[in-house]
Amino acid sequence: MDTIVALSSGAPPCAIAVLRASGPLVPDLVRSMTGGLPQARHARLATFRDPGSGDPIDRGLVLYFPAPASFTGEDVCEFQVHGSAAVIDRLIAAMTARPGVRLAERGEFARRAFIDGRLDLTQIEGLADLIAAETEEQRRAALDQSAGRLRRAADQWRARLVALRARIEAELDFADEEDVGDGLPAEFWTGLRTLRDEIAATLASARHTLRLRSGFRIALMGPPNAGKSTLLNALADSDAAIVTDEPGTTRDVIDVRLDLGGYAVIVSDTAGLREAKGEIERMGVARALRAGQEADMILWLAPGAEDRPPDGDLDGPVIVASKADLSRDPVPGAVCAFSALTGDGMEDLKALLIERIASASAYGAAPAFVTRRRQAEALADALAALPGGAQVSRPGELVAEDLRAASAALERLTGRIDVEDILDRLFAEFCIGK
Ligand code: GDP
Repeated sequence: MDTIVALSSGAPPCAIAVLRASGPLVPDLVRSMTGGLPQARHARLATFRDPGSGDPIDRGLVLYFPAPASFTGEDVCEFQVHGSAAVIDRLIAAMTARPGVRLAERGEFARRAFIDGRLDLTQIEGLADLIAAETEEQRRAALDQSAGRLRRAADQWRARLVALRARIEAELDFADEEDVGDGLPAEFWTGLRTLRDEIAATLASARHTLRLRSGFRIALMGPPNAGKSTLLNALADSDAAIVTDEPGTTRDVIDVRLDLGGYAVIVSDTAGLREAKGEIERMGVARALRAGQEADMILWLAPGAEDRPPDGDLDGPVIVASKADLSRDPVPGAVCAFSALTGDGMEDLKALLIERIASASAYGAAPAFVTRRRQAEALADALAALPGGAQVSRPGELVAEDLRAASAALERLTGRIDVEDILDRLFAEFCIGK
């Protein structure tokens, strides 16, 4: 195995740069460049020298993490040095001059951690998400996932499947006839049902928990001139949508990504819903309806008491009274009133949105949750493989086969099997040095 080296911190110039190396030649590199091996996992001040000429390159801290208790499971060292391009280039050149030492590829440290079994696939995905996290809730979910929330659940489900399978094997050994499904004890079926229910519950929450990463979708809807574009602008605090006085000008759907109370949110400004006059407007209205159907929440803006959402077309819109600065009758069913123009009620509106998003995407103490489509698909495969209560009279061999297929789906989830096609794509998400 090559020893790999990379700059693990951000681009120079910066106050401190962290260079990291992993592999069998790490102890040699540390000795030849700093004059000795520091105590494991203790920072030591050192002068870094070119091993060839003995020239000093920089002074900084050296850390040594001997195998196997390191991120990759191999010998690892970190050099904390001054963050200039010249220092970094010279140190990397000095290290890679040695045969058997080369620059790391994207995500290669994480790949080694995976190969070593220190991290499973869901944790690597969590790590990629943690590095990419833009909002507080994305950070929190990614941290949970990288710490192994889903991995622990998957490993536990798999262990229970193995135990259930052992039950069948035992029955098969003693059965005279083929139909042992009927003969399996009631607790076998209860155990299986509990397992199914747990996986199904995790899968059922996927629609929401996947949104933590991709963004919770809010479609702004309402009649033309309801103040949708103005609200979008107020939320985004920018001029992402064009505001005009002419009704029906927001013909297309405009998406704006926001951080609302720590949640990644995509707000879509849609065409006003009314009888369309022209072909383009008709298309806009159709697109608005589609955006509404795809959204996690429809925020219906009603400037007047008569501007109620149409019956039937939309799924449970949240009605809010817009243009509250203009005096008029209260809007029936509105949960709050605001004016995007004066800012009155905007804080209430935001608080209401955040509260709804938070309760929709809460995973709290759930034993597991998914943050990627791949994870949801593997869980769906596991669930589909598990026999339901109605298949009690299925022959034992077939039930054992079902459980094996469900185990395999969980192994795909954690990356125990069938990972090759996923790995390259996943590690390409990382920067060099991770
Ligand atoms: P949309 O068609 O629903 O996107 O509505 P717009 O955001 O384009 O707003 C239509 C008109 O209403 C514009 O002249 C806005 O300035 C005005 N408007 C928007 N919000 C408010 C508000 O809260 N109060 C008042 N008085 N006018 C508003």
